[in-house]
Amino acid sequence: MTYKAVLADLDGTINRGKSLIPGADIVYGELSASGIKWLFLSNNAATLASDLAEKITSLGLPVDETQVINSASALIREVRRNLVGTRIMVIGQPRLRLALEEVGAITTEDPFSSDIVVVALDTEFTYEKMKRAHRAIQNGAVFWATNMDPTYPDADGFSPGAGSVVASISTASGKQPERIFGKPSTDMATIAIERLGIRESECLVVGDRMDTDVRFAKGAGMASALVLTGATCLEDLSKYSFAPDYILESISNLKTLF
Ligand SMILES: [Mg+2]
Repeated sequence: MTYKAVLADLDGTINRGKSLIPGADIVYGELSASGIKWLFLSNNAATLASDLAEKITSLGLPVDETQVINSASALIREVRRNLVGTRIMVIGQPRLRLALEEVGAITTEDPFSSDIVVVALDTEFTYEKMKRAHRAIQNGAVFWATNMDPTYPDADGFSPGAGSVVASISTASGKQPERIFGKPSTDMATIAIERLGIRESECLVVGDRMDTDVRFAKGAGMASALVLTGATCLEDLSKYSFAPDYILESISNLKTLF
């Protein structure tokens, strides 16, 4: 099978915290030289796609900001297209709130006038914020989440992710998010397909998590390769009722599939 594009995850696939997975830079040089297109798809909405591009570039793999899509990108696109003037309560980092304002959202902390509550990773999350979000949902605001990752890898191991913040608000309100933008939801696949101008069947998704990356590929009608440099080891595969199309020790072995 010849793929025309590689859509790879970041954390656990391309980098682990502040180190690039060995050989990733070489593989991407080879992909570019062979005319294969590539994008990175990250659930991380603690920062914007442009910041993620800068980070990966600083690790030694030069990436343009148009080559990174994160769950914040999908949310921002939805607001720009369909929700200009909507009042949104953002539980998330200030960068995300500003980006939503830039595309036309009216951000608010008032639970009585919020149309939507969007929950993302918020490193300044407090009981007060939980209470505000809960109140807004009780008052009829729609509940959305950027992504549901319970944890994310950092320098010390794993820290609580957006999914942990979402869970507290779900517990209080008794409601699950009506919409989630991160993998396994396929919003980012739609953006990737538009941006690259190719078909789903021509894309190979590469990632380290079964329930986000591989499930995302299946939902989007794309082939998938699981790498063993992140959250999943071979023994974990039997826990799932679905399987990736390929298993690679590392992204550095990617060229064996082309
Ligand atoms: Mg990952």
